[in-house]
Amino acid sequence: MIDPFEFVANPARVVFGSGTIAQVPAELARLDARRVLVLTTPQQQVQGQAILDMLGQVGAGIFSDATMHTPVDVTERALKIVKELRADCVVAIGGGSTTGLGKAIALRTDLPQLVIPTTYAGSEMTTILGETNAGRKTTIRDLKVLPETVIYDVDLTLGLPPVMSGTSGINAIAHAVEALYADNGNPVLAQLAEQGIRHLARSLPTIARTPTDIEARTDALYGAWLCAICLGTAGVALHHKICHTLGGSFDLPHAETHTIVLPHAVGYNAPAIPNAMAALRRALDSDSPADALFDLAADIAAPLGLAEIGMATADVTRAVDILLENRFFNPRSLDRARLEVLLADAVAGRRPRTDSLS
Ligand code: NAD
Repeated sequence: MIDPFEFVANPARVVFGSGTIAQVPAELARLDARRVLVLTTPQQQVQGQAILDMLGQVGAGIFSDATMHTPVDVTERALKIVKELRADCVVAIGGGSTTGLGKAIALRTDLPQLVIPTTYAGSEMTTILGETNAGRKTTIRDLKVLPETVIYDVDLTLGLPPVMSGTSGINAIAHAVEALYADNGNPVLAQLAEQGIRHLARSLPTIARTPTDIEARTDALYGAWLCAICLGTAGVALHHKICHTLGGSFDLPHAETHTIVLPHAVGYNAPAIPNAMAALRRALDSDSPADALFDLAADIAAPLGLAEIGMATADVTRAVDILLENRFFNPRSLDRARLEVLLADAVAGRRPRTDSLS
């Protein structure tokens, strides 16, 4: 039986494949762009410069200081360049940090964005922008920041380092997992989520061993896109709230934190999400999804405990305090004592506990 639902699709044009970077000029012409500013991080300046070279007359310049968590002072510097160059479009090539800068510029100028993702983070398909100002992170949702065009080129992901590929991929899986039980979930998103998880879970171990395996890379990027659509319209719950708390208050790295917390969050919610657990069993080809996610993280050589990335057991109580400061949707009610156990397990890198109906 299909329960009543609402469905929202974000308007974006997507081009997917290998060698699709060659379509950048044609896609910019569709956007009627004539003076393009290319955005990158310092680490991907060479890739950004290659795009700029490809653009000829249409390329106005490059800004290669995109930074994790979109600091407002970096955005202000980029906006000065936008103004000086009279840019009428931005092209962001990179991961979530570079996409974030493009979105921050779009929020303030309404310039169109063409995004070329090179990780699996998924920001390119969402109306979400997280920014930091004087150490404080704020998150907004605004259709203005949704990129107009996204070009996925598998070739550009071949150089993403193996462990980063794995953690970025599990970060994407986390978006789809929470879409399976979101308060605004629907059958269409559930299909996308299950399929996205399946594609990533089967390709990430191959990528960890052979990072240039084009078939596995194609599988992973396709899965990442499906998971990104989930993040773009579905709400989030306990898993994302924990990761947000740990990132914001303990400065833990984004993708690794998601990778470590996910099996524990699934184990906690298990008794309240029977349909989602059935989808996860199918997608992960396992009777125990929480264990399968933990084993996947081990398989890609990711850190398994938050202690490895800077959190101490002594921080657990404070983390749960911060987590419970604000109310949020979760399919299972929040039990303080059990959440402390969850986080203590995650800090120590223990296997997840899967709760059952009591
Ligand atoms: P990132 O963009 O910070 O990239 C990490 C590093 O890897 C950077 O130096 C980058 O230049 C480099 N890199 C990226 N792709 C590469 C490649 N193919 N080869 C070699 N190096 C490469 O990492 P991320 O995980 O993609 O993004 C994390 C950020 O994105 C966080 O700030 C997070 O909050 C944000 N995010 C936002 C949303 C949203 O919807 N707003 C969604 C997901 C993530």
